[in-house]
Parts: sequence; structure tokens; C-alpha cells
Amino acid sequence: MRAKPDHIFQLNDGSKGVVEYKSRYGEVYDSDVAQTLASVLAARTSHNIKWATIYTKNSKKDVSLGSDAEIWQKIKHLHENVLIAKSGKVINQYNPNPKKCAKCAMKLNCQR
Ligand code: SF4
Repeated sequence: MRAKPDHIFQLNDGSKGVVEYKSRYGEVYDSDVAQTLASVLAARTSHNIKWATIYTKNSKKDVSLGSDAEIWQKIKHLHENVLIAKSGKVINQYNPNPKKCAKCAMKLNCQR
């Protein structure tokens, strides 16, 4: 798996965390959380990441982390989907969200 956090910050108490910035307004999506969790796993190969936060232009979400194994359990199914897509197969799995779908380029063709 490849992932890279936008930023790694160290607080005055010494704890390090991942910060992800989204250049849009609106809520933090589940896909943002999944991306951040993947970034945390990748960053933990060289940093002791204890926390993660995602910002959009008008919202913020602190992401619950846990151990590497716990994070992997949360995103393993998504990683498997990436491998399926890379193999050229179609994934007929949708996670519709009214706000997200309204802005999606695929909304007219999506089979959600
Ligand atoms: S329109 Fe379809 S592809 Fe786009 S966000 Fe919604 S469910 Fe996902």
C-alpha cells in the first residue's frame, strides 16, 4: 500500500500526528477518513503517529486511530477493492451520500 500524509506535526507534548487538508467546503467523508488511515499506517513506518485530523475549508474531524492492526481492519476491504480495480475488474459497490453524490462527476451514470 502506498500513501503519504499531507503533513506530520509534532505538538509541544512531543506527540506526532497526521493532518490532512481537503481543498473543498463541506463535511469530512468516509473516503477522507480511509485515506487518512492509510496515510497514518504509511507514516508509522518512520514516525510514532498518535493522532490524526482532517480539515476541509469549514469543518474538522479528529480520526480515531488505535493500533496498526486495528487501522488495517478498518481499511483492509478498501485495499482489496483497489487490487480488484487494478486487475481491471469492475467493482459494483457504492457508498452513496446525498451531498457527495450531488457534486460527483459520475452521478448521471452511477448505478447506486
Ligand atoms: S454518484 Fe455514485 S460514484 Fe458518485 S459519489 Fe455517489 S455513489 Fe459514489
